[in-house]
Amino acid sequence: MVGRSQKSRRGKAGNMKAFIVSDGPADYEDTNWGVVWAKTVFVARKKFANQHGSDYRDVTARHEPTLDQYTDETLPASKLVDLDWQFDCVGCGMKLDSFTELDGGYAPEEDQFGPPRPLEICGNWRMPFCSEYCRSDYERRKAARLQAQDKIYDEMFSHIRQVVSFVKIRGSKIYCNDFGQLRYAEVYVTFPHSTHGAFFRKDEDAGKVRFFCSDYDYPVWRSCCAWERQRKFMF
Ligand SMILES: [Zn+2]
Repeated sequence: MVGRSQKSRRGKAGNMKAFIVSDGPADYEDTNWGVVWAKTVFVARKKFANQHGSDYRDVTARHEPTLDQYTDETLPASKLVDLDWQFDCVGCGMKLDSFTELDGGYAPEEDQFGPPRPLEICGNWRMPFCSEYCRSDYERRKAARLQAQDKIYDEMFSHIRQVVSFVKIRGSKIYCNDFGQLRYAEVYVTFPHSTHGAFFRKDEDAGKVRFFCSDYDYPVWRSCCAWERQRKFMF
């Protein structure tokens, strides 16, 4: 029994083929390219057309046996570079092609994005990097950005809570740069009887948190504030 289930599992994976798919002429800038795993060329074309909202009749697919063993998550960018694809490094933007690693193994001098680093295309095809150095640098910057954004959110949250108690927080958009500096932060709120809601915003230049509300909702906001002042006075 064990033997049979292993065999059928292997059989299922073995049937999946990798297709290189595109939805237009090779020399058109707007043409989308991709790799799709499917059992038949028909399914591959259908899948790709759905992914990109393109017309099925424009989609062509070619079986690429050297990629059969991978999946969308595991396909290394370097495998596609071997097939003459080009990428931009997610970390530094450097162009990655089949010459990248031949050029002495180091980033060219005109590449201003960082110290000399041994080039070795890494990452999967969705997140390609020029080198391990660039990948870990990117991860570090991303972590710093997320940490800074969390901190700003907590600050905004406690600020809003200090000012008013009657709002409900509906969401937020907070963006810091890679050095953890705030670009902008917006926290969206609703309050009793509001129609559009409102938001609190903090920008990089102004340290103060500002409040934005539609003209339509402003009288309601005022009466909520009056109610809260009265309530604070009473208790
Ligand atoms: Zn890079």
